[in-house]
Amino acid sequence: ADRPDRVIWRNGEFIPWNEAVVHVNAVGHASVSAAFEGVHSYWSPQRGQLLGFRFRDHMQRMLDSLRLSWLAPPFDADELVAAAVELLRRVSEPGRDVYVRPWGFAAGLHREQMVPAGTPAEIVIDSWDFESKLGRGRTCTLAVSSWPRFNTNASPATMKVFANYHNGRLGTIDARRRGADWPIFTNGNGEVTESSGACIAVIKDGVVATPDLSSGVLDSITRRTVLQLAEEAGIPTQTRRIDRTELYLADEIFLVGTAAEILPAVEVDGFPIGTGQAGPVTRQLEAAYHDVVRGVVDSHEEWLVPVERA
Ligand code: PMP
Repeated sequence: ADRPDRVIWRNGEFIPWNEAVVHVNAVGHASVSAAFEGVHSYWSPQRGQLLGFRFRDHMQRMLDSLRLSWLAPPFDADELVAAAVELLRRVSEPGRDVYVRPWGFAAGLHREQMVPAGTPAEIVIDSWDFESKLGRGRTCTLAVSSWPRFNTNASPATMKVFANYHNGRLGTIDARRRGADWPIFTNGNGEVTESSGACIAVIKDGVVATPDLSSGVLDSITRRTVLQLAEEAGIPTQTRRIDRTELYLADEIFLVGTAAEILPAVEVDGFPIGTGQAGPVTRQLEAAYHDVVRGVVDSHEEWLVPVERA
């Protein structure tokens, strides 16, 4: 990810990666007041073009997170989309998928956590190459975290703010220590919420179910995408409360998110899921998602932003 040769977008300017620095006194304190996004762009061999995926939805969600954080970003969603596209035009290479990381944080020096309302936000857009795992047969194992999810009524889970990720990190380390790849968090009522950096979907008797937003989950753009693709394929979906035991009795489970893409889970807390292999509905949805993001099909052009080559 270290790319001293790359440019980074900062507050409307392209600057060398190495020069994108802040003072130490800004780091910890401004981090409490900071929101971010993770966005994918996929190389399309069919089109010979890089395709940004749902850029505007991601930028709008970041602006919403900043608004709820009482920070004042000096750009609107369209300006941020244009900035990300121009950044990709400058840094991307044919054949490569690129991860885009926009984030915003309280501008200036702070020695107090209680950064006042209305503080301007600095906005930065960084990027790095990544390798999509779609269609590569990847799977994962899950463990219900011994740390419950943070209370969404205390710190809204719909805000994609760095401060919310402390709980995710504790759960991830807890899961790894118990030999699993990713945690699944339950909320104070024992309901399933999400993983540390992805949402979850549970399939039983052909129905795809995901926890509803009031369970305390990020309003995941990939989750929305996959629910829509499922409906279009005639696969019934439900957004509702999900009990922990439903995980153990599921036919199929997958994680869903920008980075996770569609990641089949084959075990949870030692219970094999279904046959202990990725299931057919998950594979069907993974293929449908792949075909959209790679521009194999043109059924959802509204989600794609083509990046013209420099
Ligand atoms: N939940 C959490 C906690 C996440 O960090 C992410 C990744 N942004 C997701 C869910 C998935 O969201 P999206 O599909 O918008 O990437």
